[in-house]
Amino acid sequence: MREKHPHRVLAPLQTLQFLASLLLPLNFFMPSGRTHDRITIWALPVIVGATFWHTRNGNITLLIATGFMLGGLMFGPDLDIHSVQYQRWGWFRWIWYPYQKSLRHRSFLSHGPIIGTTFRVVYFTLILSIVVVTVLVIAEKLGNVTLNWQMLANEVGNTILSHKTEFLALFLGLEFGAMSHYLSDWTGSTYKRIKKQGIRAYLNGLSNSGKIKKRKPTIRKGKGQRLKSKGKQ
Ligand SMILES: [Zn+2]
Repeated sequence: MREKHPHRVLAPLQTLQFLASLLLPLNFFMPSGRTHDRITIWALPVIVGATFWHTRNGNITLLIATGFMLGGLMFGPDLDIHSVQYQRWGWFRWIWYPYQKSLRHRSFLSHGPIIGTTFRVVYFTLILSIVVVTVLVIAEKLGNVTLNWQMLANEVGNTILSHKTEFLALFLGLEFGAMSHYLSDWTGSTYKRIKKQGIRAYLNGLSNSGKIKKRKPTIRKGKGQRLKSKGKQ
């Protein structure tokens, strides 16, 4: 089913500028919103190529690619903070407001493999259902029409069942998009830690983790302490 959303259309020149800025050299080590965007754009041809090679199916490839773009640009782990992903929802960003307020940034539920995407899909479906049901109930009251809820539920159920493969492909795409995000988050924070401590200290830390309690690394006080705990987000 295709829906039309009212959305602003960028002038062609602005679109070109935006695309060009995405193709600038990547800075993998400090993934900001923009870096995550570039990773998504650069990885897209790889995803499309690999999917088509495996499935030989244009439809499935298109769905996985769409999911991947959405997962990387709008439907990704960073919806748990006021990020570019969140801002891209424009008028509809309220959808993610409760999500953002109730999850800690980079928590397991937003940045965890598979669980992050699953939780977002369930959350989004729930909010969407609440909105649709509310609108239908209001329409029923105002328009003096009677809706057959049983039939509606059956219809939705049948649609999902008969398009299982398509939904799965879309889900996989979303997960690949999120994966590109949390993998680069992880690479970035590991790199920063190595740069700060040195590779030997880092590896020692890895082999000692669980045995020895971490020592407090710095003597910073006051503001520094607060910043440090924020920086760990
Ligand atoms: Zn993140």
